[in-house]
Amino acid sequence: MDFRFDWRLVEFDDDGDRVTCRVEHVPTGRVETVEAAYLVGCDGGASTVRRQLGIGYEGTADLASFVSVYFHGKEKVVSSILTGGSL
Ligand SMILES: Cc1cc2nc3c(=O)[nH]c(=O)nc-3n(C[C@H](O)[C@H](O)[C@H](O)COP(=O)(O)OP(=O)(O)OC[C@H]3O[C@@H](n4cnc5c(N)ncnc54)[C@H](O)[C@@H]3O)c2cc1C
Repeated sequence: MDFRFDWRLVEFDDDGDRVTCRVEHVPTGRVETVEAAYLVGCDGGASTVRRQLGIGYEGTADLASFVSVYFHGKEKVVSSILTGGSL
């Protein structure tokens, strides 16, 4: 299996026997072609695979907006946030 971080699927062609994918290395913009027997669309709610296959999305897409912040801290402070307590 070929795992690639920082790569994104740009588009694909399905000829029935093979799927040819154009993938981009996001940091450099380098584009490569990858061929496979199958393409599995597990790329989330804004799925490129779903959109290119013309599969619609019903219901409300944007239920809320989130901002995630990752930081290092003392265990006492982190657990206080997770339980909704005050600092
Ligand atoms: C803040 C937050 C809190 C949540 N809390 C909960 C919870 O408590 N309980 C719960 O059940 N659910 C929760 N959810 C929802 C849950 O995270 C999602 O339903 C779930 O992650 C969907 O899984 P997925 O594998 O379909 O998509 P994702 O987890 O979105 O994974 C899709 C992956 O595909 C990658 N990708 C997208 N487009 C491309 C592309 N073109 N090329 C290559 N890769 C691509 C993305 O980078 C991502 O890694 C939460 C969501 C958010 C945002």
